[in-house]
Amino acid sequence: MQNRVLISEKQINRQMNLADQLNRELKSRNLKFYVETFGCQMNVRDSETIKGILVRIGYTECAEKEEADLIFYNTCCVREHAEKRLMGNIGALKDLKDANPGLIIGICGCMMQQDGMAKKLLKRFPHVSLIFGPNVVFRIPEMIERVLSGERVIMTDEENFAIAENLPQLRDNPRSAFVNITFGCNNFCTYCIVPFVRGRERSRDFENIYKEVETLCSSGITEITLLGQNVNSYANDLNSGSFAELLVGLNDIPGLKRLRFMSSHPKDLNDDVIKAIASTSHVCHHVHLPVQSGSNEILKRMNRKYSREEYLDIIRKLRAAVPDIEFTTDIIVGFPGETEEMFQETLSLVDEVGFAAAFTFAYSPRAGTAAAKMKDQIPEYIKKRRLQELNQLQAKKTVENNQKYIGYEGEVLVEGFDQRTNETLLYGKYSNFKMVYFPGNPEQVNTYVNVRVLATNKNSMIGEQFQIK
Ligand code: SAM
Ligand code: SF4
Repeated sequence: MQNRVLISEKQINRQMNLADQLNRELKSRNLKFYVETFGCQMNVRDSETIKGILVRIGYTECAEKEEADLIFYNTCCVREHAEKRLMGNIGALKDLKDANPGLIIGICGCMMQQDGMAKKLLKRFPHVSLIFGPNVVFRIPEMIERVLSGERVIMTDEENFAIAENLPQLRDNPRSAFVNITFGCNNFCTYCIVPFVRGRERSRDFENIYKEVETLCSSGITEITLLGQNVNSYANDLNSGSFAELLVGLNDIPGLKRLRFMSSHPKDLNDDVIKAIASTSHVCHHVHLPVQSGSNEILKRMNRKYSREEYLDIIRKLRAAVPDIEFTTDIIVGFPGETEEMFQETLSLVDEVGFAAAFTFAYSPRAGTAAAKMKDQIPEYIKKRRLQELNQLQAKKTVENNQKYIGYEGEVLVEGFDQRTNETLLYGKYSNFKMVYFPGNPEQVNTYVNVRVLATNKNSMIGEQFQIK
């Protein structure tokens, strides 16, 4: 296995010096950028770095693409429909470019790493001048300099093992932040394109993660979500450390109230992690544990490396160690070869576990992955019907899950408010990810309050604030 490559301080400084130089040249022009993010939390996190670098170069963020001098689309390619949508979105930018010939249009993110995609886009859309993949974000200053001098730039397929530290960030959530702990993935689930477009799995050093969390918490952020395609394999490529040790090591950082993490791969969630969740004060009682299927045959074909029984065993152990723990999951229906009986096994697993929520997907073949070449691809209408059936069951399980919360009391981090009714309804989550709505004052957004659940309706729980005597 090739080792990770730490981008040197010298290389980062060179890019940042270039950013400062561009800033001196561009600042007086009052240039604006607009970044739109598609896909998962990894992309949201990447966009914060992209925006931070653009600010360093001298741009300020704007809310509408019509006002922008630079537009980036940060793309996702996990499922096929994203590609079709993106093509339409890029095409629609031509009018803006015609109206403002100085406009820089850049497309970045996972999709740009797909075979032939970058060249195809550049050819099809002459108004696009910059294309780059997720592993070269730190080179944006160099890319912008080249674009400003009239070049059309493609920068992909490089730095597949790179980790770049200490880049500028523009984070817009004042209470909550994502922190990467690993990049890339080694698991090669047969349906998934991520290992091909994000490179091999590499872990950040504990000290760098610690420093980032410490800095965020000293700026007032209280909730941290650690990000990795498989957080449980953190440090497998380092000489020491483990995910369990990381949770324990970060738990006592001053100001930190909630430590979340995603995603957990069931094959690597071991007893040490269970002990760490149970024994720490700030690690949240929620695990996002994608199961993908309830059928052992399908799990094998997916190369998931655990069985239904092993999955259920982890759930059982976690519930025994942490009684108020909640689980969310990802499920794919219509994987090649999935028979009606195999699909029923997924339904029975969903019924048995009682997930708080499930993100459900119809299998989408991705070129280059093993599953795309498998026989017995399932017709779209069957996938659609199975997805509906699964969603109906999950909706019923969500109602059941909510009902057990009547009378529950706990601390909620207020995320926002809803003004649809006469009274102001605040909403926020308990530590275990359950969302509750309750009357309150908009000034309480971003603070912690105690909430008792009074009632539930179809999708949500309704509560009231209370003071601890
Ligand atoms: N690394 C994470 C994990 O293993 O749980 C998930 C990453 S992926 C971006 C998020 C989810 O997308 C997966 O858990 C899977 O359910 C879904 N997914 C990935 N590839 C897919 C495909 N080809 N078709 C349908 N859903 C897919
Ligand atoms: Fe994709 Fe599997 Fe890696 Fe998750 S663990 S990113 S599903 S290959």
